[in-house]
Amino acid sequence: MAKIKIDKEKCIGCGACEAVCPESFKMDDGKAKFTGKTGKCAKEAVDSCPVQAITL
Ligand code: SF4
Repeated sequence: MAKIKIDKEKCIGCGACEAVCPESFKMDDGKAKFTGKTGKCAKEAVDSCPVQAITL
């Protein structure tokens, strides 16, 4: 299973990843956090991030 990496420096806390894929992303203190589960929707979240902070 692919691991998700979130670049906290790049993340602007828009919440798009959580909206698209709540299984894998959770907002925490204004930044996105990986839940530990790589959902099928993770790829979509990568594409939805406006600042390319997520890598699979
Ligand atoms: S979509 Fe990108 S910028 Fe927005 S909260 Fe998620 S990781 Fe951060």
